[in-house]
Parts: sequence; C-alpha cells; structure tokens
Amino acid sequence: MTAARARARGWRAIYFHPGTIPFWGLHVGAVYGVIALGVSWAGLAWAAAMYVVRMFFVTAGYHRYFSHRTFKTSRWFQFVLALGAQATAQKGVLWWAGHHRRHHKHSDDELDVHSPYHGGFWWSHMGWLMGRDFEGTDPAVIKDLTRYPELRALERLWLVTPIAVGVLAYLVGGWFGLVWAFALPQVLSWHGTFTINSLSHVWGGRRYASGDDSRNNPVLAILTLGEGWHNNHHHFQASARQGFFWWEVDITFYVLRAFEAIGLVRDLRGVPEHVRAGTRKAALAAAPAAVVAGPDALPVDG
Ligand SMILES: [Zn+2]
Ligand SMILES: [Zn+2]
Repeated sequence: MTAARARARGWRAIYFHPGTIPFWGLHVGAVYGVIALGVSWAGLAWAAAMYVVRMFFVTAGYHRYFSHRTFKTSRWFQFVLALGAQATAQKGVLWWAGHHRRHHKHSDDELDVHSPYHGGFWWSHMGWLMGRDFEGTDPAVIKDLTRYPELRALERLWLVTPIAVGVLAYLVGGWFGLVWAFALPQVLSWHGTFTINSLSHVWGGRRYASGDDSRNNPVLAILTLGEGWHNNHHHFQASARQGFFWWEVDITFYVLRAFEAIGLVRDLRGVPEHVRAGTRKAALAAAPAAVVAGPDALPVDG
C-alpha cells in the first residue's frame, strides 16, 4: 500500500472512522476539561511534567532505541522503555519501529508513508496513522525486535498501557488528574511527536545533504527534547545524540547520559568527526539504521 492510494480513500475514511473516536474524544475531553476546571499553576505544572516524561519515552524509546538501536541496555530496561513508549498511545514499539525504518529508507519519496511533499501537512502530521491502511507492520524490517516474546505480547496489548495511565491519573487525582496529568499531556505529546514528520521536513535549516528534505529547527528541538535536529538525524541515524554540537540542545541525550552514568543504559553511539564535518559518504547516509548497525548487532545482552 502506498501513501497515495491510502489518501485516495478520502478524508472521511482517514480522519473520521470508529477507530478515531478515542483520538478525537481525548482532544475534546482535554479542551472541555481545561475550561471546566479552569487554568491553575498546579495544572500547568502537571501537564508540563507529564509532557516531558512522555516525550522522553517517545524519543529515547520508540525512536532512538527501538527504531535505531543507538544504545544498549538490559532486557528489563528494554521492557521499561517499551512500556513507557506505549503509554504515550502511539501503538506498539514494533509497529512504530517498522514504519519509522521505512520512513528513513524512503524519506520524502513516494514510498515514504508520511512525507509532507507527497501528502500535504495534515497527512504527514496525523492522517497516515489515523487511516487504517498502515496498521500492519512488515515483519522483515523488525526481526531484531520480534525475537523478544515480551515485546510481541506488549505489541498485542498496546492499548492497555495508555488506558492504565488514564485510570491511574483518575484514581490518584480525580477529574483534575484525568485532565491535567493525562488527557492534556496525551494530546500535546501526540502533536509534539507528529511535528517531526510534518514540520521537521518543511521548517528549518539544512546542514547536510541528506537526500531528503529533513530540517534542523531549534524550536522543534526544544518541544521534542532533541528530535528537532532532524536533518542531523537523517544524515546519521546511528547516533544516540541528535544535537551534533554543544549548542544544539538535546534533552533526551542528556538524560540518556545520566542513565548511562548510573548503569541503566550503555554504549551510547556518538557522532564520528567526519560525519559531523559533513564529509560522510552520501550512500551511508541513505542506509536504514538496521543496515548501519549490522543485522547481528543486538540491542540487549539477552
Ligand atoms: Zn529516525
Ligand atoms: Zn524524517
């Protein structure tokens, strides 16, 4: 299935089918909840804190670990990363990694499932994942991950985690907790993540000729804890850091460095000097991370 054929189904079939009710419901619930409860400093603090925690698991979990395997960890912490990522309601880590690897392989060509250049802003932002055409995952591109039975189990049960977070927020904080610690940060973390597929291929500068239209954007890098250095990332996917220079703020990387210091993760892959300098061969830049890492490079000890 190509993105062009999926888009041909029309906007109703993509954005408004029964499967999208929870997505839209949380948007309405978050807005209504904020109006009904009123804005408070405590509410804003909860929303900001939960947004940051969620974005960390999106970028460190779904993206830098499961999609690109830019660092290693223990099997139990791999499970924690999967659980934390899936709590943000962006489906299972196998699905996420499979589609993301395809994005890198076909960046901004007609086989890219979410290129703004082939589908427009809203398609790249959320249409591609709201429609039903990309619900499956190509098993051939995630063999390094499907070997773990606990990840396969989590994949089938992916909805349980975000629902559990919502129930917990309600049990602990009542309606206040449900709105400010769950619904609002859930909606914001969805759109924060989605900007990487939409705005980060349109808005910003290009340091490297990465063979696609990826951009570096400091505003998006702050909002997404480092993912906004997207041109850097397309240039060299194997690195755990996406801010390639000290002034390129990459909060996810700082947390990963702290995790490394206390032994939670190890072998964070860096940026070789010739890559940073931009003299790296274009052919390697276009290769998917799994190829760069090598098929036998396993993410955990076993
Ligand atoms: Zn990536
Ligand atoms: Zn991209």
